[in-house]
Amino acid sequence: MNKPAGECIDEVAVDTMTDPAVRAVGEKVLSGERLTPEDGLACFQTKDLMGLGRIASAVKGSRYGDKAFFISNQHLNYTNVCESRCRFCAFHRSPDAKDAHTYTHEEAAAAIAQSPVAHLREVHVVGGCHPRLDLDYYTGLLKALTQARPGLKLKAFTAVEIDHMAKGAGISSLDCLKQLKTAGLAAMPGGGAEVFSERVREALFPRKISADRWLEIHGEAHKLGIGTNATMLFGHMETMEERVMHLFRLRKQQDLTKGFRAFIPLPFHPENTPLAHLPGPTGVDILKTIAASRLILDNIDHIKAYWVMLGLKLTQTALHFGADDLEGTIVKERIAHQAGAATAPGLTRTRLVEMIQEAGLVPEERDTFHQSIQTQ
Ligand code: SF4
Repeated sequence: MNKPAGECIDEVAVDTMTDPAVRAVGEKVLSGERLTPEDGLACFQTKDLMGLGRIASAVKGSRYGDKAFFISNQHLNYTNVCESRCRFCAFHRSPDAKDAHTYTHEEAAAAIAQSPVAHLREVHVVGGCHPRLDLDYYTGLLKALTQARPGLKLKAFTAVEIDHMAKGAGISSLDCLKQLKTAGLAAMPGGGAEVFSERVREALFPRKISADRWLEIHGEAHKLGIGTNATMLFGHMETMEERVMHLFRLRKQQDLTKGFRAFIPLPFHPENTPLAHLPGPTGVDILKTIAASRLILDNIDHIKAYWVMLGLKLTQTALHFGADDLEGTIVKERIAHQAGAATAPGLTRTRLVEMIQEAGLVPEERDTFHQSIQTQ
C-alpha cells in the first residue's frame, strides 16, 4: 500500500540536508510547490548527492511504495541504415555498408514469432532514417508483427522516424500517425530528443529534427491517444543549464498534452563514435540526473533507470534515487552496445525480478501502458 505523499516526504528530514539549495528543493517538494529552473540547476550542481537522492526517493516512494516495475519485451531494430549520421551514434550505416541490414516483414515477424521471451508483452521497434523505405513498409511491418504474436503491443518509431516517413510520403506527421495507429501502433518510444539545444544540435546532430518538431510530433501523438516516452541523452557536450531547459520543456509539453508515460535519462556512451575521446558521465552524474528528473518532471509518472546503459549495479542504486522502472528483457539490444555498453544484450525475466529483489524492492511486471500484470 502506498503512503500518502506528505507522509513519505516528511521522512526526508529536510533540515538534515547539507546544501541549503537542496534543502529549499526539499521544502518545496514537501509543500507541493513546483520547482523552478533555478531549483533544477541546484539539483545538478549540488555536492549533496545523498540529500537529493533522499528527496527523489521519497517522491518515488509516495507514488509506488517499494515497487519497481519491469516489462517482458523485445527490441527490434528493423534497419541500421540512416541518412542522419549523428556524431554521437555508433549504430547507423550507409546503405552500401557491408553490415547494413534492413529486415523484410517476414524476417521481422520471424524474430518475434521465435522470441525467447515466454510471455512477450511488447515489441520496441526503432531504426534509422532509411532513404528508400516507404510508408507501406512501416505500416506493413506493424501488421506483420501483430500477426506474428496476436495481443502483442507495438511501441514503435521515434518522432525522428515519424518525421522522416511523413516527409517521404508527402503527408503531415498527424496523418502519418493516424495511418500507423490504424496499422497497430500502440505507443511511441522517447528516442531522438537528445538534448533540446540548438547549439548541441548544430554540433552533433544537425540533420535531425529540432526540439520544436520533436515536441510537436509527440503532442500530435498524445492528441490521438498514443502514449509516448521521452528521453534525454546526457553527458557529452551539453551544459547543466541545457539539461535543465530540456527537462522544463518536457514538463511544459506534458502540462499541455499529458501523454508522456515515462522519462528515460540516457547516459552517453562514446565508443565507436567520433566523440570517443569523451569520458561519458560519471556514476554520480547519472544518479543526480535520475533524481533531478524525478523532482522536475512532477507530471510524468515514471522515471526509468535503463539497465542497458546504466549497468546492473547502478540501475539497482538508481531505484533508490527516484527511478521506479528498469525497462525490460529486451533480448538483443544493439544501439547502446555498438557504442560500448558493457551489459548483456538482454536479461531474462527471472534476472530482472532478482535484480529488483536484490535492491530491497518489490518487482511488479507491467504492460506497455504501465498497467500492473502480476506482483512477485
Ligand atoms: S541517432 Fe538515430 S537518426 Fe541519428 S544517426 Fe543514429 S540512427 Fe540515425
